[in-house]
Amino acid sequence: MNKTVFFEIKEWEKSYLRSKLPNFNLQFCSQSLNEISAGNAGDADVVCLSARCVMNEKSIEKMKKLRYVTTRSTGYDHIDRGVLKKMGVLVSNVPNYGDNTVAEYVFALLLSVSRRVCEAESRTRKRDFYSRDLVGYDLKGKTIGVVGTGNIGLSVINIAKGFGMKAVAYDINENKEASHDLGFDYISLEDLFKSSDVITLHVPYNRSTHHLINMKSIRLIKRGSFLINTSRGKVCDTTALLGGLKEDIFAGMGLDVLEEEEFIRGEKGSPVSRFLRDRKMIFESGALLNDKRVVVTAHNAYNTKEAALRILDSTADNILAFKRGNPVNLV
Ligand code: NAD
Repeated sequence: MNKTVFFEIKEWEKSYLRSKLPNFNLQFCSQSLNEISAGNAGDADVVCLSARCVMNEKSIEKMKKLRYVTTRSTGYDHIDRGVLKKMGVLVSNVPNYGDNTVAEYVFALLLSVSRRVCEAESRTRKRDFYSRDLVGYDLKGKTIGVVGTGNIGLSVINIAKGFGMKAVAYDINENKEASHDLGFDYISLEDLFKSSDVITLHVPYNRSTHHLINMKSIRLIKRGSFLINTSRGKVCDTTALLGGLKEDIFAGMGLDVLEEEEFIRGEKGSPVSRFLRDRKMIFESGALLNDKRVVVTAHNAYNTKEAALRILDSTADNILAFKRGNPVNLV
């Protein structure tokens, strides 16, 4: 009998999915996908993942009957699509469940660092009511540089306009209509680095965006700027982020994603050797966690009640479409 296995699923999501897929043989696994938990999907033809589930060759090997993978996320860099393609396994994502959700979070992070909200809050909790040294930074009149003008990037520009900010953008595929309608200019990445007071990243993680923020780019970035990353950790070289903070190129950073965040969370069912190889990265990410100018959250930008329901609705639609022989949202 065909079987669909969901990884890293919460209790309330089970009943919701059962109501959406009533005639399906569904199995739920609260654990994330790793080389060990993959055994739960040994006889499944459909597997559903969260963005935290790492689907590599080793876990795929255990899924002998696999025909379709759907991820409850927009990003799909956690899935080894090369291996799946060779096996003829299709992969879908949820492309636009939370343009506003992630864009709103960008401003939660930005205001936290630009207005030093976390420091002020932490002092107040300790009954320290002195805050005159916590001088902030106005957004009105400043330039926001948006890297990647897909669904989320455009939503960020829309919100930035409400703050009275000027927006510039860089994308390998320019959206002229949006540029006209929202009133922003496309410029080169180099010019964006040089002219932006706030840089915010909204590109997928792939070979072309690996370490887009690196030692070379921080030499171009305007001194005293803010960096917000809600895309993927590996879009930034952690060493460069630390270098930029050390040299006061960055006045602050809001990071929802970190390089090697799965190691930091202790989720990657990884052999010790790989852990040792990556320990430098973990150490550097730890240094980011300890810097007061940096606000770090654990991949939480997508996480609202409304977005969670949109993700489950689209996921159920993806599975139904695949079963009908007409798969959608393929990546
Ligand atoms: P999207 O596909 O709508 O937009 C991505 C944009 O990036 C596209 O316009 C594309 O042309 C552009 N792009 C691709 N490669 C580029 C490059 N090398 N240089 C410049 N531009 C490039 O995606 P989206 O919905 O806006 O999401 C963006 C990313 O945000 C996702 O891929 C995902 O990694 C991340 N995300 C994170 C969370 C979170 O919770 N932190 C939630 C949702 C999405």
